Amino acid sequence: MSVSQERFDSVCARAREAMVLHSTADTLEWDERTGMPIAAGEYRAQQISTLRALVHERRTDPTYGDDLQQLIQECENEDPHGPIAATAQQLHRDWQRDCKLPTELVERISKATVRGQQTWDAARQADDFSIFEETLGHVIDLKREAGQRLSEGTDRSVYEALLDEYEPDAKVDDIQQVFDDLRTPLVQLIAAIKESPQQPDTSILERTYCIDDQRDFSHFVAEQIGFDFERGRLDETSHPFCTTLGPHDCRILTRYDPHWLPAGLFGTMHEAGHGMYEQGLRPDWFGLPPGSYVSLGIHESQSRLWENQVGRSRPFWEWLYPQTNEAFQSQLDGVSLDTFHFAINTVRPSLIRVEADEATYNLHIIIRFDLEQQLIDGSLKVKDLPEAWNARYQSDLGICPPSDADGVLQDVHWSAGLIGYFPTYTLGNAAAAQLFDAASEQIGDLDELFARGEFRLLLDWLRERIHFDGRCYSGSELIERATGSPLSATHLIKYLKSKLEPLYGIIES
Ligand code: ZN
Repeated sequence: MSVSQERFDSVCARAREAMVLHSTADTLEWDERTGMPIAAGEYRAQQISTLRALVHERRTDPTYGDDLQQLIQECENEDPHGPIAATAQQLHRDWQRDCKLPTELVERISKATVRGQQTWDAARQADDFSIFEETLGHVIDLKREAGQRLSEGTDRSVYEALLDEYEPDAKVDDIQQVFDDLRTPLVQLIAAIKESPQQPDTSILERTYCIDDQRDFSHFVAEQIGFDFERGRLDETSHPFCTTLGPHDCRILTRYDPHWLPAGLFGTMHEAGHGMYEQGLRPDWFGLPPGSYVSLGIHESQSRLWENQVGRSRPFWEWLYPQTNEAFQSQLDGVSLDTFHFAINTVRPSLIRVEADEATYNLHIIIRFDLEQQLIDGSLKVKDLPEAWNARYQSDLGICPPSDADGVLQDVHWSAGLIGYFPTYTLGNAAAAQLFDAASEQIGDLDELFARGEFRLLLDWLRERIHFDGRCYSGSELIERATGSPLSATHLIKYLKSKLEPLYGIIES
């Protein structure tokens, strides 16, 4: 049997049409989170939920499903990782998943999560979880209902069915294994760092850094590492993110803090890493699996690699520090490269995940991974969440949030219905370290390139090994193909120890 070109084209046309609607809703969401007047919220919720419902209708159309079924059979002799077979398989997978959710439930979730984000924002500003409690309870109930429907007829748990949306085919047990392998060495490393008499002077990063200067500098850095401003923009928001609104339109958003230079700078490098992945996908396949990102874990591996493996490395700052010194003359006068590099690699348990250092970051994720599973299985009630949150911060990180805004209200995710999303951050950290090791082995001396401000070879390597294939391979297949082994915690631990132990003067035990 061979593939009917007519059928393939018709399926692609319908998937692309759904993507037009989907990306239009994304554009409205981008606007909502950047410049929309607050009073516009109610109507915006209607606009977005109407569009999402239309997308859902298109993607669950029975004749579309029949065509996909037929196409899968016709693809039997095709290369399963070629764009044609992968398109058929992945669209069919999406179709099956979408069909399990009735349109009215999708609409209810969409409305609840738009309202959820607005209520979350108000609660965060008022520093009062009780404002958010009922809305969050509603979102959790709806997501549990969705998870139950999605898990029907599969061997997935309700939580795994939700996780599957962000990390296709991931198993809780596998994630737990990586997290367990990370936890003990991380806790040991963090303890050794805490006890070290050698500590960085972070006050140099807390001086007043004018936001206009930070904006210019962040733009410059994003451009230098390879974010394409002809096909993207950098803006500001309260909770940084990256969204793609079209094949040549990638939006990254950051947040500047006048008294904490790393927030805006590394936030921008992080989002630029996400953006460069999106910009590396094939635009002619936009809206179809070969031109789509494969999983959030892989997405995060790209942002983390640029933020950390590149952005916090010594050679990178050998190149960038003279220019930094010039851009922030009054703040960094007399501060040596060594002092600066140590300061941006400080490790200290803190309250806010997005500002956490590389070593403690994963502990923030493990807390959220545990709590959200309990919210979904009902063993933790929403009203008890702030207390459970604070207790875990006390036991895992040794610090207790003084208020909800710095605790349970800090992340937008749950308000937006993103349950099963958090673990992908740590999977991404592990993948970033593993990919970077493979790139160093295959490309050669990356340090020497970074010290000259050259990032093209690394970006090209990522384009070829990860970006180009879109969803033609699974996330775990891409990691294995690029690095020669399955994802493990080993590379991340090795990377953290090899950088942090010398900085903190820790003699390896
Ligand atoms: Zn990210």
